[in-house]
Amino acid sequence: MRFILATKNKGKVKELKEIIKGADIITMDEAGFHDDIEENGKTFEENALIKARAVCKELGVPAMADDSGLEVFALSMRPGIYSARYAGENATDEDRVKKLLSEMDGKEDRRARFVCAAALCMPDGREIVCRGETNGNLLYAPQGTGGFGYDPIFVPVGFDKTFAEIPQEEKNKISHRRRAFDKLSLEIENI
Ligand code: IMP
Repeated sequence: MRFILATKNKGKVKELKEIIKGADIITMDEAGFHDDIEENGKTFEENALIKARAVCKELGVPAMADDSGLEVFALSMRPGIYSARYAGENATDEDRVKKLLSEMDGKEDRRARFVCAAALCMPDGREIVCRGETNGNLLYAPQGTGGFGYDPIFVPVGFDKTFAEIPQEEKNKISHRRRAFDKLSLEIENI
């Protein structure tokens, strides 16, 4: 079955093509869908469904989407669903990391977790949404050049390197996105 992946984030597309190897996945750009989808949900699950539904409805084909972000315990789980917009609309990954580190200044509790909700919407109205999480700790300064987003300051539990220092294949084995899409793949077998 062919799925449209409802995201414009190139870092995610790269990871997801690696994670869901067997499936025939094309991006919304490749499918000719260029509209911006407003993510006005209150949870990762709602936002993932909003994106997948929009593309499925417009193109009439099965659509997958994810919504993800970083929850920081010392910040009452912020930035959460606002992770992409945390430092404003036109900010870069570096700006977001810098802002987070300054908010974390002096905080001893460095616990954080990446969360991903993966959604699938079918043209006949069936919908599935699954969640994956990866726990870790935040550093005091960025380390590594791989990955994207908050990877340079996030050290997953059981590792002594950041997601930006760990090879992509290793990140893909334990990432929140991997865990969410593994669950979704199992569910897809039953539909
Ligand atoms: P969205 O899911 O497109 O709304 O954006 C999620 C945002 O969370 C990204 O732009 C990143 O800033 C952050 N994020 C999500 N997953 C990861 C990851 O695997 N590594 C680093 N940052 C991530």
